[in-house]
Order: sequence, then structure tokens, then C-alpha cells
Amino acid sequence: MSDPSLNPYHRAQESFRRAVNTLGLDPAVYEILKQPLRFYEVAVPFVHDDGHLEVLVGYRAQHNDALGPTKGGLRFHPQVDADEVKALAMWMTVKCALLNLPYGGGKGGIRVDVEKLSERELERVSREYIRAIALVIGPDKDIPAPDVSTNPQIMAWMVDEYSRIRGENTFGLITGKPLVIGGSEGRVEATGRGLVFATSQLAHELGMDFAKTTVAVQGFGNVGSVAALFAAEMGARVVAVSDKEGGIYNPRGLDVPAVLAYKQKARSVVGFPDAEPITNAELLELPVDILFPAALENQITADNAPRIRARIVGEGANGPTTPEADRILFDHGVMVVPDVLGNAGGVTVSYFEWVQNQTRFYWTEAEVNRRLEEYMRRAMGAMHRMHERYGVPLREAAYLVAVERIAEAMAVRGWLK
Ligand code: GLU
Repeated sequence: MSDPSLNPYHRAQESFRRAVNTLGLDPAVYEILKQPLRFYEVAVPFVHDDGHLEVLVGYRAQHNDALGPTKGGLRFHPQVDADEVKALAMWMTVKCALLNLPYGGGKGGIRVDVEKLSERELERVSREYIRAIALVIGPDKDIPAPDVSTNPQIMAWMVDEYSRIRGENTFGLITGKPLVIGGSEGRVEATGRGLVFATSQLAHELGMDFAKTTVAVQGFGNVGSVAALFAAEMGARVVAVSDKEGGIYNPRGLDVPAVLAYKQKARSVVGFPDAEPITNAELLELPVDILFPAALENQITADNAPRIRARIVGEGANGPTTPEADRILFDHGVMVVPDVLGNAGGVTVSYFEWVQNQTRFYWTEAEVNRRLEEYMRRAMGAMHRMHERYGVPLREAAYLVAVERIAEAMAVRGWLK
């Protein structure tokens, strides 16, 4: 990649460097945070259904474990590379520290196109990957989870493979598992719910009544649909939603459960009777109080940022706002709940899942949701206070909260001298 500002690893390093400077910390803090403490590249050989052998490349990054074992998802994607995995592990360090979870950041992946694999091949790849990294992961070392193109079934094969290697059931190895083998209630909805908890807390701190706000949601998948449903349950008026095919708009408010039922049949929200059609681009510019980009990266750019009319942008997706757009929104007084908090509900309930596995005592969904709310609101509060103290955007404030905690842990552990 020629432009270093576009390389995610360099961007993550730059964010840490800035946070260490702003907080006036020992430069040694940055020297430790600027790369993963450990980074593994492994060969993942597996046999195709037709009998031929292919060797894939797999990675696992363990960025920093000052606050606890490393934690983070696994992605299976043809574009996975070393720098991306390192950057994603660094973002997990920030998420975990910001949410006050007793974890550091990790991330892993395999460069593979899952569309080209049969179910049996996918299982073999998943098991081989775990064999390749078995010695460096574990419930007290490094705990993987789902990410792009991985799911509870893959987690189940992986925990099974690891348990066979160890000769003991080790459900705490991995999170995002199916319920029957130690998964947690509420894990699937956690990211969408967490986004609404964090955003409604910010609305509250800005003196807005969330129950009186209007909301637009871009993306109607696992994150967007849950956020829309839950925002409506909390009394907000959800006026627009969209998916890959396009969007729908009704300024009087959409009946979100009816839209969900419609999407299940029609496979898209487009064509929902009680609304007018709009494009994904138009949805972003609607006159609403709260906008949730919960679809793809780079949706709010220098191009459309000046026309965003929402007071709060709550990032459900990873990286939906470009750095230039971030500055424009900040100058226009639009508050952005950054992805490191906006979509941290997933890893927070992963933490609850791991706690349940380690204690073998399982919680109700109400219990999970109550604690999720507490963690999201507390993290939002800490971030907002940093924003007020240093006059920086919330995204930068998130790094300040996280880096301050990690630096304190590294100092008392004696890493800095
Ligand atoms: N992959 C998700 C994330 O990026 C979840 C990670 C986890 O649950 O450990 O936050």
C-alpha cells in the first residue's frame, strides 16, 4: 500500500502515538503499544473433498496482555493480511480497555474464500487452524471469537478440536459458541443492543430524551436490525432503514417488527408497503436526530459529511466514517459514537460468556442484558468525560481512556522501567 495513511496498521499506530502524547505519558508506553507483543503466521494444510492438499496462510496477533489474556475474533476472508490482523488486534486492545474488560486485544484470520469451500472443507480448515495455534491460545492466554465470515458452528468445531488436543472440555477457549455448548444468551443480539445503550447514554448526556428522537439505520443485518428493533422498543421513532438493495422511509415512523417480518419473506426491506423508497446515500442525509451506519466501511466521507443532519452518529459497522469525514462532523458539532464503543457490545457479552464458562453457572438473557447496559453506559460516560477534559472527538477520547488504563497496568507490572 503506497499511502501510509491508508494502511490500517499505520493508522492504529498513529492513534496510539497521539494518545500517549496527549496524556503526557512515558514514551515507553508507545514503544510497547506500537506493535503486537506476539504475532504468529502459520501454515494451515487441509485436504479438499477431491483429495488434493492445499496450504492456506493463517495469522494470530496478540497485541497487549497487560490487563488480561488477549481476546478477539477470527476472520476468514480472501484479503486477510498481516497488517490488517495487527491493526484489528490493536483495535481490540482499545475496545477491551475502554469497556473495562479484563482482557487485552487479539485477532486472527485465515486468507481464504469461504464461498469456495464445502461444509466439510470448512470444518477441516477450522480444525487445522486450531491445531496450528493450539499451543499459544487458551482460556487464560488468548480467547478467539467470531468475526467476518465465521460463526457459532465454526466456533463449535474449534472448541471441539482444542478440547480433543487437551483431553478435557475447554468451553472457555472460545466465545460466540452455540448455546448448547456454553454459548451465552443474548450474544447474537449483543452488538445491536450495545449500540443503542451507548448512543442513548450519549443522548442523555447531551440533554436529549432518547424516547423522543428520530432514528435512521443503514444496514438491516445482525447489527442494524437489532438496533432498529431495540431503539423502537425504547420509544424512539425509527423513520428509515436500508439494506444492500436500498432503503425505506416513513417520517411518521416504521413498524420495525413488521419490517423484519417483511424482510424475512421478501429478503429485502425494499417494497415494504407503508413507506417510500430511498437510496442508501439519501438515508444518510435525512433530517433525523440519530443515524446508525451499521453496514459497510467508508459510508460517511468528505463528500457527504457536510450534509449529515443527525446530531449523533452511532457507528455499528467498523470504520463507516473516513478520517476526513470525522473532522468535518466534529467541526459541525455532530457527535460520533466511535466503532470501538459502538460495536463493543459483542466482545462485552463474549466476556460474559467466558465468565459463565469459567464458573459453570449460566445467566438468564435478562441478566446478560442488564449487565451489558451497565458496561456500555459506564464506558460511554468515561469517554465523554475525556472528551470534555481534552476537547477532542469521542474517537480520540476512547483511545485516551484505554491507553491510560493499559499504561497504568504496564507501569505497576514493571514493564516500563
Ligand atoms: N469480532 C468481534 C469484535 O471485533 C467480537 C470479538 C469477541 O467477541 O471477542 O469485536
